[in-house]
Amino acid sequence: MDNSDSNAPCGLAAVFARLIAATGPISIAHYMAEANARYYASRDPLGASGDFITAPEISQMFGELVGLWLADMWQRAGRPEGACYVELGPGRGTLARDALRAAGRAGLAPEIHFVETSPALTALQQAAHPQAIWHHDLSDLPADRPLLIVANEFLDALPVRQLVRTAGGWRERMVGLDSEGRLTPVAGTRPMDAAAPAHFAGAIEGAIVETSPAAATVVQEVSARLAAQGGAALFIDYGHVQPQLGSTLQAVRAHRKVNVFAEPGEADLTAHVDFATLAEVAGQAGARWLGTSEQGVWLAALGIGARAGSLARAAPHAAEAIEAAAMRLTAPAEMGKLFKVMGLAGPEWPDGAGLSRVVLAGTG
Ligand code: SAH
Repeated sequence: MDNSDSNAPCGLAAVFARLIAATGPISIAHYMAEANARYYASRDPLGASGDFITAPEISQMFGELVGLWLADMWQRAGRPEGACYVELGPGRGTLARDALRAAGRAGLAPEIHFVETSPALTALQQAAHPQAIWHHDLSDLPADRPLLIVANEFLDALPVRQLVRTAGGWRERMVGLDSEGRLTPVAGTRPMDAAAPAHFAGAIEGAIVETSPAAATVVQEVSARLAAQGGAALFIDYGHVQPQLGSTLQAVRAHRKVNVFAEPGEADLTAHVDFATLAEVAGQAGARWLGTSEQGVWLAALGIGARAGSLARAAPHAAEAIEAAAMRLTAPAEMGKLFKVMGLAGPEWPDGAGLSRVVLAGTG
């Protein structure tokens, strides 16, 4: 269709454009938070007909190994009474289904707690787990029992803040309007030098520093709970194990990358997770950092090869698909290297299977 308005923003983009025209640019964090709240509230984004696919939706093996990891931690911690399964951003509830089935075989049948804000995904989770208890944030999770916490592709959806180095020093990176009224990144006017991390203070003009205060807050809250109540947590996401410069903000729609500023609320906005900073935050809040491993290494250590073999023997007609799914989850060129698994635990809790505290240089 060709008409004179084809470039004019519509939907949430138009709302942002009016707001910016009236009051000036908004921060990247504000933009990302509102865009994702709109995006997740109204749809199920997962799967082939959606916008993206996640590890639990690729194969049951992923959730099963997560469940076995949690059950192993719980057993070696002395099988404490009343431990709860807590999942942050459980999507369709698929990971919980597979994890709890595997954990159940190991004797762990915990109460189920979900932290979720999306009405659309909550409805799917209710159908799959009618006995679960829902929370909008972590504040009202049980406070008197150990927590076994899982978050897969949750932190990447939380808003990032960006600073950009200009000729006049560091500024917040904002969303403004170009000469045709379209959303575009601009530098803020207020000096932000005090907010730039010391090790990046000398970066060249144009450099971008990205942080996620929201992700740090979640890890801080989880860690304080582990310190006070005992338990363990797994954060699985794409990201880097050493701090790095540059914007990793991306928008995905229908399995393709699209312009971050073109369709807020219609595409999934994510950023890479800074695991180095989160490990520090966890330690400061009193949790034990058990290590951060590449997903492929972690799944191999937990026995994905053997599990794929036994599933294939039980269903020979599906053997090729099972092998392909295992490859997709573990191969370095697919999800195996970019995705990381970070384990945390309470001070009295044991080390985690498959995790190592050795940080490999250059693993990105
Ligand atoms: N863990 C699932 C889904 C990942 S998509 C999987 O691996 O398939 C991100 C999930 O986090 C969705 O369930 C989304 O609704 C939820 N989510 C995003 N932002 C959130 C927030 N601020 N608070 C709680 N849940 C949030």
